[in-house]
Amino acid sequence: MTIGKIETDTLVVGAGQAGVAMSEHLTKLGVPHLVLERNRIAEGWRTQRWDSLVANGPTWHDRFPGLEFDDLDDDAFAPKDRVAAYFEAYADKFDAPIRTGVEVKKVTRNADRPGFTVDTSIGEIQANRVVAATGPFQHPAIPPIAPTDDCLHQIHSSEYRNPQQLPEGAVLVVGAGSSGVQIADELQRSGKTVYLSVGPHDRPPRAYRNRDFCWWLGVLGEWDAEAMKPGTEHVTIAVSGARGGHTVDFRKLAKQGLNLVGRTGTFANGKVTFEKDLAENIRNGDTNYLELLDAADAYIARNGLDLPEEPQARTLLPDPECMTNPTLELDLAEAGITTIIWATGFTTDYSWLDVNAFDDKGKPQHKRGVSTEPGVYFVGLPWLSRRGSTFIWGVWHDAKHIADHIATQRKYASYKDADQREAEKVSDIRDTKKKSIA
Ligand SMILES: Cc1cc2nc3c(=O)[nH]c(=O)nc-3n(C[C@H](O)[C@H](O)[C@H](O)COP(=O)(O)OP(=O)(O)OC[C@H]3O[C@@H](n4cnc5c(N)ncnc54)[C@H](O)[C@@H]3O)c2cc1C
Repeated sequence: MTIGKIETDTLVVGAGQAGVAMSEHLTKLGVPHLVLERNRIAEGWRTQRWDSLVANGPTWHDRFPGLEFDDLDDDAFAPKDRVAAYFEAYADKFDAPIRTGVEVKKVTRNADRPGFTVDTSIGEIQANRVVAATGPFQHPAIPPIAPTDDCLHQIHSSEYRNPQQLPEGAVLVVGAGSSGVQIADELQRSGKTVYLSVGPHDRPPRAYRNRDFCWWLGVLGEWDAEAMKPGTEHVTIAVSGARGGHTVDFRKLAKQGLNLVGRTGTFANGKVTFEKDLAENIRNGDTNYLELLDAADAYIARNGLDLPEEPQARTLLPDPECMTNPTLELDLAEAGITTIIWATGFTTDYSWLDVNAFDDKGKPQHKRGVSTEPGVYFVGLPWLSRRGSTFIWGVWHDAKHIADHIATQRKYASYKDADQREAEKVSDIRDTKKKSIA
């Protein structure tokens, strides 16, 4: 199918949560727009997550303000397909102008007139503005240390579905953020021998004194933090909504039978090495956990809240063997490792966006999503305006700011000076006269 020439004021590329939020705010402000999605609404939630994944935050929190998950308890964690259905229902609610199955292939600024020429899989579009809502997690990032050994089955966490998908044998999961730790836990519970390579991480308590960590990070202003603390660029967050939600506790996981190792170093001659940093990483994670409990206690005291005390939350299990006597090298064959799962994050791809909005490393240049190329916007990126920017509840606020900016720019663009207004009036009168004569 092809289209004739389409013109729109604002083109939004991508209909994940970011694209849907953009469309809602543009609709509210009366900005004519079109959303193009190469697959389906919320495709990421449908096909780039493992089968048992549930949202990391409870339904009262991990949603947009305009719609509740009315079939789920407020404190439940929505399964991934339910999250996808939520965004589809949300888009239906305000009749979002979304066209699915259309890929944006190239965006270039027009040379001799305002706006952009957009080359899509069904033809050309002219747009005054373009919002890139193509997601923070587009391409699986696998570090160059990955071995080239054909005998090993290697996948990225975005390709993991369930334990049955993997060949017989032990698994090494590299990366212990929310994805890696949940996948490793699921594999170990299915009966597999699992090695989990643990780097620096934060691990907030799932809940403390009757409040979920999402609530704590909210009231303590942590979701609103505008910039990463220096030196925390490689610190992941390990949280889980699995099995009703629980605190990620590496000491407990070791006791359960997971083989914890430090950061993965190198692969050579059938062997893999690990850094000596496991104990330090776990202790730093514990510190982060305990600091949140302290901050929560202080908040409760300061505000005189009546929330039950929970002293047992401060009791940590003793250091497991993997901390006191860490494994620094493994012979992959001897350990029976047949699979490596790289839970090592994602990169973005803006090769389709041929505009002046990137630095020399290809990183988007913007202020709260308003890029250095007038008329080009980004939404959904990590730390776009704050820590919450990639998350469901955060992207909605960023989209609002961007839609406001677009509406304001439209106002400037439509301004006419006195001469222009007068000329327009005269032309209107002429048109009316012509019509009445006819
Ligand atoms: C495993 C995992 C679990 C997560 N769990 C949570 C959670 O529990 N709670 C939470 O708040 N956040 C969670 N997140 C973070 C975040 O909510 C998701 O990553 C979310 O999918 C990001 O939404 P998005 O709209 O920015 O991007 P995406 O969902 O990736 O949407 C981008 C869309 O753009 C489309 N697209 C890309 N390029 C083009 C193109 N050229 N033309 C047309 N369309 C294009 C894609 O098909 C895609 O549908 C999780 C992330 C991951 C990876």
